Parts: sequence; C-alpha cells; structure tokens
Amino acid sequence: MQRLDAAVVGAGAAGIGMALALQKVPGLKFGVLEAGRVGESFRRWPAQARFITPSFHSNPFGLADLNAVNEPSSPAIHTGAEHPSGPQYAEYLSFIARGHELPVATDCKVAAVGAVPGGGFILDTPRGRLQAGFLIWATGEFQFPDLAPFPGAQWCPHYAQVADWTRFQASRYTVIGGYESGVDAAVNLAGLGREVRLLARKSTWDPQGSHDPSLSLSPYSRQRLYQAIDTGRLEIVFGVDVIGLTRDAAGGFRIHAGDGRYWDEKAAPILGTGFLKGGGARQVAELWDWDEDGRVVLSDADESTITPGLFLAGPQVRQEQRIYCFIYKFRQRYALIARRIGLCLDRDTTALETGAGAWGPFGNSECCEGCEC
Ligand SMILES: Cc1cc2nc3c(=O)[nH]c(=O)nc-3n(C[C@H](O)[C@H](O)[C@H](O)COP(=O)(O)OP(=O)(O)OC[C@H]3O[C@@H](n4cnc5c(N)ncnc54)[C@H](O)[C@@H]3O)c2cc1C
Repeated sequence: MQRLDAAVVGAGAAGIGMALALQKVPGLKFGVLEAGRVGESFRRWPAQARFITPSFHSNPFGLADLNAVNEPSSPAIHTGAEHPSGPQYAEYLSFIARGHELPVATDCKVAAVGAVPGGGFILDTPRGRLQAGFLIWATGEFQFPDLAPFPGAQWCPHYAQVADWTRFQASRYTVIGGYESGVDAAVNLAGLGREVRLLARKSTWDPQGSHDPSLSLSPYSRQRLYQAIDTGRLEIVFGVDVIGLTRDAAGGFRIHAGDGRYWDEKAAPILGTGFLKGGGARQVAELWDWDEDGRVVLSDADESTITPGLFLAGPQVRQEQRIYCFIYKFRQRYALIARRIGLCLDRDTTALETGAGAWGPFGNSECCEGCEC
C-alpha cells in the first residue's frame, strides 16, 4: 500500500493551492487525488459563465491577482481575461500543476475514507488503497448542488447542471434564487432574448445591505443585472420564498410561494438556489461534526473537531463571522494548514511564514477583525 504524509482530495482551486503550500514543507511526501481532470468543476461551468472577481496583474506592485492560487501567478496573465471563463481558469490550474510538478493523480476518485484509530487514514481509490497521515478534503461545492430545496424541484434544471444557456429555447423562463447563480442565469437568458422572471427572497444588491461579497452581489453581476433590466425582458419579484412546484394536466408548472402567491410557467423553472451545505464534505460526513445549520464545525486551524488530522480547504470554510467562500478568501488558509502539518511532523515551515509579500497585508485575515469584510 502506498503511504503519504499528506493526501489532498480534489484538484480545484483549493486542492492545487493547498498542494503548492505543502510543497514548501521540505521532504513532505504528499499527493493530490482528483476524480476527474485538474479544475474539473470549472470545466463544467455553463459556457457563458465568467469569474465575477476581476483578475489583474497587480503582482509587480505587491498585490496578488485576486483569483490566483499562489502569490507569483496571475490568471489575468495566463488567460488574458479580466473575468476568465471556467475552462480558461481550469487551464490556468493545469498550467500551475504542471509548472510546479505537483503530484496529481487524475481520474482517481476517492470512494471511501477510513480513519485509522491510532491516527492517519486509509483511502479507497481506483488505483488501490492508500495510506495518508494527514488528509485535506478539498472537494468543493459545485459538483454537489442541492437538487431538492422544495417539493417538486426534481423537475427543475439546477444552475450547476447547465452546460450552455443557448440550449434553453423556450420564449420565457422563471429563475429561482437572487444571489450570484440565479442572477447569472437570469442575465444570460435575458441576453439571449428570453423573457425572464427572477424570484428572490430579498435583494442582495441593496446599497444599505451587507458589503461582504459572500452575502452581497458582486459589482460585476450588478452591472450585468442593470443592463438586463434595461432590456425590459427581466422582471424581478422580491420577498418570494418558494415552497413547492406542482404540474398541471397540460404539462405546465405552478410555482408556489410561502405567502400564497403562485406563478404558472410552461417551462420548468431554473434553480439558482445553491449547493448542499458542506458540499463535497458530505462524502465523508461521519468524519466531521455538523452544526445546527448543517455546516462543518472546524477548529481554528480548519481541522475536524472529531477526526484529528483531517482538514477542510475551500469555500465551505467558516470561522465565526468569516465566510471564506471565494478563492481570494480561502487561499489565506492554505499556509495555516500546511504549517500545522509540517509542525506535527517536525519539519521546517519557514517557507510558509506569511505577513509579507503579495498575500499581505491586504490579503491577511487580520484585516477582517471586528468587521464583516
Ligand atoms: C459561475 C461561477 C463563478 C464563480 N466566480 C468566482 C469568482 O469570481 N471568484 C471566486 O473566488 N470564486 C468564484 N466562484 C466560486 C469558486 O469557483 C469556488 O469557490 C471554487 O471553485 C472552489 O474551489 P474548490 O477547489 O474548493 O472546489 P472545486 O473547484 O469544485 O474542486 C473540487 C474538486 O474535487 C474533485 N472531487 C470531488 N469529490 C472527489 C472525490 N471523492 N475524490 C477525488 N476528487 C473529488 C472534483 O472533481 C473537483 O475537481 C464561482 C463559481 C461559479 C459556479
């Protein structure tokens, strides 16, 4: 059986970024196991989807590109785009993995994980069993959509299942969900000439609302939303809590709101309602403690509170009020985890010391103390 000091599961932004941090620990034997290709989730984005966070090569001035997974690289330079597409970003991640000779095994889905009582993990993979002293779970959210947010949702396409909006050929659609994916769906459909109704619980672009990008619509999406409203093809209905979907004898759909309102549509509504809480961490649900909101409970070093040696990397990470759901947020945690593992193994972690360079002071988490940014 192959033995590693540390295994990373998932080769998305979190897994590749984590691997780069682990590579800074001298002599650490680690590997990345990926079910598909490097950047698999990004390769599955709808064709029209773009990064909402702008990429910019500010590196020479001491500021990392907001979408980079390490300090020196820049998706803006690699892709030539301010708002890269999913495939462009996947190519950037592949380029980084190749350039740094990261040990990534693709087409290698981890089917099961067993925690060894004395410490460490046994992983079941298509290439046999693997033993790892530490495990970093970086399986993201995108491939784990919540397909049942209300009864009847099984008839609805979910944003994460859409390959290309041009395949939506009906003249009108209803989109459910008023945050990034719902707005992106609505904007793209309106741009293709469809009449669109967007049902939202509340406005995520209210200037009086939160300024945390994890709770508030990005400027990029706001601009596109206002342009879509200007076409006259987008209607937005606020205060809607969809509680169910029923079908009529003619094959149409009735969307029911909690306050008794309803809307009839010929085409199935589109879900922009989010992902399973915990996302891919649900695959090893028994190895985490879960809070009453269905989120993974983590130590202050992003380690499972019930399975020592198991860490979570990626958008599901939360620490008190801080929501690390974007790359420029969760990348701040790579060095923390790698340092913890290095110190446990009595390795030199000097190369992981932060507080200077392009990640900081602008990129460190201390700037968020006491505020919600
Ligand atoms: C349209 C869209 C636009 C976005 N725009 C931005 C943006 O502008 N800025 C930003 O910061 N974020 C953005 N995000 C969010 C960002 O994409 C995610 O936060 C990011 O992809 C999370 O990275 P990850 O590595 O955790 O997950 P993923 O990229 O989903 O990677 C997880 C990987 O794990 C693999 N995997 C899963 N289970 C297993 C298993 N059992 N064994 C082996 N491998 C497994 C998957 O195949 C996948 O490759 C956007 C998301 C979408 C959908």
